[in-house]
Amino acid sequence: MNRRIKLALPLAFGLSCLLARPVAAQNLNSLFQQFTKPAPQSPSAPSGAPAAAAGLLNLLLPGAAPAANHQGNANSPVELVKLLSQSLDQIDTPKEIEIGRQLAAVLLGSKPLHPDMVLQRYVNRLGRWISLQSLRPDLPWSFGVLDDAGFNAFAAPGGYVFVTKGLIDRVADEAELAGILAHEITHVTEKHHLKALRKTAQAGLLTQALSSQLGSSVGAGLSAQLLSMGKDIYSKGLDQGDEYEADRQGVALAARAGFDPFGLLAVLLQLRTVASDNSAFTLTLSTHPPAQTRMDQLEAAIGRRFDGLAAGPGPVTVAQRLGR
Ligand SMILES: [Zn+2]
Repeated sequence: MNRRIKLALPLAFGLSCLLARPVAAQNLNSLFQQFTKPAPQSPSAPSGAPAAAAGLLNLLLPGAAPAANHQGNANSPVELVKLLSQSLDQIDTPKEIEIGRQLAAVLLGSKPLHPDMVLQRYVNRLGRWISLQSLRPDLPWSFGVLDDAGFNAFAAPGGYVFVTKGLIDRVADEAELAGILAHEITHVTEKHHLKALRKTAQAGLLTQALSSQLGSSVGAGLSAQLLSMGKDIYSKGLDQGDEYEADRQGVALAARAGFDPFGLLAVLLQLRTVASDNSAFTLTLSTHPPAQTRMDQLEAAIGRRFDGLAAGPGPVTVAQRLGR
């Protein structure tokens, strides 16, 4: 596990498989709307999406099917709250996507998207390529870069993944970014956030939330309760066991996508040496187990299984990939 290997081949062949249409200078606000727009009430009523914004989504997120084909009535706050008190099996994919859309709005409400559209497209293609190798390639995966100097990555149910500009600036190469994205993708595929939301429900907090919702307008787009729970999850973090699982599966997923499987390990090495008073890392460090423990867990799970992949060209930096 101490050997750092480099495989930079995925984008060479992998991303060329994805559509690479040019994107004109577009209104970032439209992208924001695509992440946050309320889901249509039914598959036959997709008119809630502004046409221009939908077009931008198609350009930026090729293959990311707008949720119109998947929506039920899950955007009713009351139904979402009821859903979260049920078993995970009862939350079908359209409802999971809708919950994720609302949680993504929580994230985008606190940090805007970064205006560098070239960077946004790159991270989207990278993330979508990796997600295609995941256990749930059919989700409408969307990846965005938040305009924030901190070192953070977030995911929400249904395929929403965000990294901060500060994280992009600090990764040494593409394999490290791929490892982080694979970790976040695993949180989605394993429904870790849904589990965390259900835990809140089981704690009885949702009973209160539900009664207050029933007493007010139930037609509001964004559930105040979901917003509040989302903030709670993103500030406190997930179960430690879920973090270890995201590390393990993330390493395997990054390898399956053709990246250096030790990219995530290199990130953990960096996190291990971060000074505890470095404010850029405060949230990441407080919401995850200690980096050394994560490394120990990874080593115990993986051993030398990926050492045979120690071949291939040298590392590629994000800046090189962007031609800068
Ligand atoms: Zn995590």
